[in-house]
Amino acid sequence: MEFALENIRDYCTDCGACVESCKFLSQQGTPGSIATGFDGNSPLHRKIAYVCSLCGLCTAVCPEKLDPCRLFLEMRRQHLEAGHFDRTPYRTIIAYETRGRSSLFSWYGLPQGCDTIFFPGCTLPGTRPAVTVQMYQQLRRIIPSLGFVLDCCTNPSHDLGRTAYFQTVFGEMLDWLTGHGIRSVLTACPNCTKIFRQYGQGLTVQTVYEIFHNHGIGRILAGNISCEVSIHDPCPLRNDLQVQTAVRGLVSDLGHTIVEMKHHKKTTLCCGEGGSVGFVDPQLSHEWRTLRQQEAGTRKLITYCAGCTSFLNQVTPTVHIVDLLFRSAAVCSNNLTVAQAPFTHLNRLLLQQRMKKIVHDPNGSFSSG
Ligand code: SF4
Ligand code: SF4
Repeated sequence: MEFALENIRDYCTDCGACVESCKFLSQQGTPGSIATGFDGNSPLHRKIAYVCSLCGLCTAVCPEKLDPCRLFLEMRRQHLEAGHFDRTPYRTIIAYETRGRSSLFSWYGLPQGCDTIFFPGCTLPGTRPAVTVQMYQQLRRIIPSLGFVLDCCTNPSHDLGRTAYFQTVFGEMLDWLTGHGIRSVLTACPNCTKIFRQYGQGLTVQTVYEIFHNHGIGRILAGNISCEVSIHDPCPLRNDLQVQTAVRGLVSDLGHTIVEMKHHKKTTLCCGEGGSVGFVDPQLSHEWRTLRQQEAGTRKLITYCAGCTSFLNQVTPTVHIVDLLFRSAAVCSNNLTVAQAPFTHLNRLLLQQRMKKIVHDPNGSFSSG
């Protein structure tokens, strides 16, 4: 914390480049002014970090190569360590994470000879169980001994500053995976990707979108309908050119035309869900969403995060790339339905039962939908 604070205090030139695009900083001032006036003993000072989306845009645009996003995460961590963290506003997200990790909802399926797993995260299995199965089956045609793991990467706790809890829980999962011979993880969720890349020592991490693109899945699944779309890049992958290129390749292979928004790739904007800001400042969260809506205009947004899809869909039509790939007819006829809570919980349990049969079936990739 001290290093991050001093670094910003000493080197921020107050140029305003980060403030210009950030809803949070436009209320609070430059990171330099925040760091200069910061009182480490004041819970109120540290608490402002919970209104930062941790989206990383400030870090991406800073000409001095400073990392204000890191400072705000450190402020959250210090606030929690000082015993001032109030979990009341975050009850829902903490319960969601706890449920995802529970023995009822988590499941590890490793077929014979498995060294690679598909880790779909929490949201896709609940909202799109049939598509999750289709993704696994496509991947297993490419990797015959592919495993399947239902569990939570614990990103919510990571971003809330619950560092000790996060390290214990993620560490246990990592030890289990590496102890069972897993060397490679295929992710679908940008937050899972971020967590595994940052903390998954001993594992190589690739998104399913890269695998699908490398194997021409977009061309295989292409239909006759094409439209003009924009891509919303999720914040955790703003610096990941390979994934961004793969997603654009898939969308193009499907036959659609991409029109880039002003903020895309490295300078993408938060969808409003980042950092769990919506639980403490719903208005600010909504303002982030509205910025995306304005840049999208009349075009449909395509993204590769289930959380972004759900948040942005509240203000502008937004489609998850996996729906565009595997349910294109429903997308194009505007008949796409996505499960909502409480049915998402039931879906996750039913998916687990289904995957227990598919994963351990030697012909699992070819089981009918
Ligand atoms: S991480 Fe995002 S929300 Fe937080 S200060 Fe930087 S640009 Fe603003
Ligand atoms: S872009 Fe960098 S130097 Fe400029 S105000 Fe933001 S943190 Fe300071």
